[in-house]
Amino acid sequence: MTASYDPNNIFAKILSGDIPSVKLYEDDDTLAFMDVMPQAPGHLLVIPKVGSRNLLDADPAVLAKVLPVVQKLANAVKDAFEADGVYVAQFNEAAAGQTVYHLHFHVIPRHEALPLKPHSGGMADVDVLKAQAEKIRAAL
Ligand code: AMP
Repeated sequence: MTASYDPNNIFAKILSGDIPSVKLYEDDDTLAFMDVMPQAPGHLLVIPKVGSRNLLDADPAVLAKVLPVVQKLANAVKDAFEADGVYVAQFNEAAAGQTVYHLHFHVIPRHEALPLKPHSGGMADVDVLKAQAEKIRAAL
């Protein structure tokens, strides 16, 4: 049986304001913030405000709201970091690499000469993340 959504997950706590995050975009349905363990400079996450574990149990109407925001931020981060491409990733359950059980999309600018750092590697400096968030906002 598939596990259910846990409303105490860390991204739900970011949405409720119980734990801090470096936010860069918000509308009625979605929130985007910097990943604290970035795989490349500019690595951000986009989440719907309505909770689901991942893509498998998400309401298609919610997905229809989130994907345009993923696209908007992918273009903004590509411009802001003068990237060659953008990697968008989304994992479903532990076997696929999921560690936080609130649907999220990774948006990561890619440069041809710069390899990706490991998933869930080292913590970034919060002031660096704030500066990157500002740069992405300016490109929106
Ligand atoms: P995954 O569930 O495997 O797609 O990965 C969860 C992602 O969330 C990882 O890239 C983590 O670095 C990131 N992450 C975990 N906790 C936080 C947090 N409090 N704020 C921002 N990003 C986080």
